[in-house]
Amino acid sequence: MHFDTRLVHAGSVPGDPHAPTSTPIYQTATFAQEDALGGGRYDYTRSGNPTREVLERQLAELEGGTHASAFASGMAALTAITRLVRAGQRILAGSDLYGGTFRLLTQVLPSLGIEADFVDTTDLGAVAAALRPETALVLVETPTNPLQRIVDLRAVARLVHEYGALLAVDNTFLSPVLQRPLELGADLVVYSATKHLAGHGDATAGAVITRDERIAERVVFVQNAEGTALAPFESWLVLRGVQTLALRVSRAQHSARRIARFLAQHPDVTRVHYAGLPSHAGHALHASQADGPGTVVSFETGSFERSRRLVDACRLFSIAVSFGGVRSQISLPGKMSHASIPAAVRADRALPEDLVRVSVGIEDPRDLLADLQHALRTSSARVEVRS
Ligand SMILES: *Cc1c(COP(=O)(O)O)cnc(C)c1O
Repeated sequence: MHFDTRLVHAGSVPGDPHAPTSTPIYQTATFAQEDALGGGRYDYTRSGNPTREVLERQLAELEGGTHASAFASGMAALTAITRLVRAGQRILAGSDLYGGTFRLLTQVLPSLGIEADFVDTTDLGAVAAALRPETALVLVETPTNPLQRIVDLRAVARLVHEYGALLAVDNTFLSPVLQRPLELGADLVVYSATKHLAGHGDATAGAVITRDERIAERVVFVQNAEGTALAPFESWLVLRGVQTLALRVSRAQHSARRIARFLAQHPDVTRVHYAGLPSHAGHALHASQADGPGTVVSFETGSFERSRRLVDACRLFSIAVSFGGVRSQISLPGKMSHASIPAAVRADRALPEDLVRVSVGIEDPRDLLADLQHALRTSSARVEVRS
């Protein structure tokens, strides 16, 4: 079956005789056992639940993996993979990465004796120089968010493996419809399923996917031991969302391309970050490892005040930190999703204060363009009045 068909046809609950067309929600904490010695396939939902298991099998299969574990959030999934690292070992991470991940690596893990190094992972020489004998895990995102810099996944995987470390890719930005890092050499793929996979802004969820039996065993152990598994109802919401993943991403990406082109020729926009534009520095590299540029476009206006007014002037784009949902959203990453990165570090990593990020939803693109046109007019008109 082709990918889009597999999205619609998740597997069935083991042993279900009724062939339901929607996976049932096993909203139960416990499962009665066959006898005093146990013996049931499931016993307790923290350790295993049929609804979650259907989702996990589907996510593994979509990714070209053999095992997936679903977590209560993307951060829970990311935390689980850091459990593969022991005290004294180090994590090497991309310097332009999700703010919550930065917070986890710098404010939680050091107390466990695990330190993180940050490097521009688009620079292979810098990655090679930053790898140390103690580096156990390398964590990257590509395209990075919000600046959309492209990491050469095949090359980074080769380097990381030469050092005997594991490569994890946070693939939240694109979803498996557009990029499947295991096929490019990654050992682990991590998702915030809150974004594209669930897709409707109504569930918080995460996932870890791998082909490596030993890694999978450890992740499953941690998921149960730390009690971070995804609940049955949320598992069902993600299963429901995944069915329309390709349709949603394809529609939103089509609109995102139009919006990126519109912004690129607009006189009040100084710079557009979108891997789909031929002028983007990583355009060709991205095309060599992914099937599309995705649904998020970032741009600069040259002035923080103007960007702020622009965001405030939008009527259809809601001001929200997330992406990957059916509704379009707009934000100032420096002030919102990446606010957990200290200002000095943000400046160091060249995250411009006037950066605006739009997450394109599945609305009619004409309405989205009209909203941005209006917001750009409003924001620049007021600048002129002031000066
Ligand atoms: C949102 C996000 C996360 C965190 O996921 P939650 O579901 O919010 O916990 C991690 N990585 C990336 C790239 C994200 O966009």
